Amino acid sequence: YLFNLVQELKGNIRVFCRVRPLHPDEPSSLNFNEPDTITVSNPLLGLVRTWEFEKVFTPDKTQEDVFNELSYMVTSFLDGYNVCMFTYGQTGSGKTYTMEGPDENPGIIYRAASYVFQQVNSRASSWSTELSISLMEVYNETIRDLLNEGQAKLKVKQDNNQRNHVPGLTIVPVRSIDEVIGYMKYGLSVRATGTTNMNKHSSRSHLIMTLYQKAVNSKINTEIYSKIHLIDLAGSERLNKSGSEGERQKEAQHINLSLFALGDVISARSQKLAHVPFRNSILTHLLQDSLSGDSKTLMILQISPEMRHVEETVCSLNFGAKAR
Ligand code: ADP
Ligand code: MG
Repeated sequence: YLFNLVQELKGNIRVFCRVRPLHPDEPSSLNFNEPDTITVSNPLLGLVRTWEFEKVFTPDKTQEDVFNELSYMVTSFLDGYNVCMFTYGQTGSGKTYTMEGPDENPGIIYRAASYVFQQVNSRASSWSTELSISLMEVYNETIRDLLNEGQAKLKVKQDNNQRNHVPGLTIVPVRSIDEVIGYMKYGLSVRATGTTNMNKHSSRSHLIMTLYQKAVNSKINTEIYSKIHLIDLAGSERLNKSGSEGERQKEAQHINLSLFALGDVISARSQKLAHVPFRNSILTHLLQDSLSGDSKTLMILQISPEMRHVEETVCSLNFGAKAR
């Protein structure tokens, strides 16, 4: 109870930062002298700056370390809160590693799902819980249903209870972690179809995996509905305008639009402003009911430690600092 109270007082938005391992033979621009702070030094510019976050994961920290620090947010989802978690950062900074991870060392999506099944299976027998999953991609301001390739263009709509939803989106029941893994494999293969370079494509689109629960306890007459979004965002690098034309330019504008909109929503919320501009992008509109009210948000800033990435690193750290 006390723990929950402390969490409430700290507000609904958390920012963590994870630094991926240094490429061999490259100079680093980062220092971690104090816990949960990052100091960036740029000798060329003679600059030293420090940022502090709720948690900073240095490169030696494992997938398990990361999950252990955020599992309480998955517990919040099980308690009935809507939750959103993002990985944010430039391409190559470890967003996909943290959110999806390699098969032999899975990331948040799989750890969260197996934690959810564990917890649900240990609930009192008076509870009956149904879990389900959806998987979508947001690319160039359009939503693609990755669990149904044939699905026509999807739109965000608001229902009578002010809840946003996507009519026609495939939401399938899941009864085990193996079923989740199966749907993820399927969805990611749909995502790859028609793209010649998956790395490039994934750095320009957002991947949104969502778990939904409906939990009913007839003994105490309680129903819980909640969802948790686990999101691998498009790369945050400022795309080179001079070198991009046509399709490439359009992609760049759409990515910038949705990441700016996300930053604006999160900082409006952390400042408790009356107007939160959800409607400025598909991404923020889609996530509106998981980014407002008593829902909980975790942003994980992904950082590349190499000196040559220092400018993008500073941009990412500033993006995270705006949310606090
Ligand atoms: P992004 O999704 O942000 O473009 P990736 O997750 O694809 O970045 O990571 C880029 C590379 O760095 C990949 O080869 C990935 O395996 C590796 N990598 C990222 N984070 C870690 C980590 N914490 N430990 C080991 N390797 C990592
Ligand atoms: Mg990626």
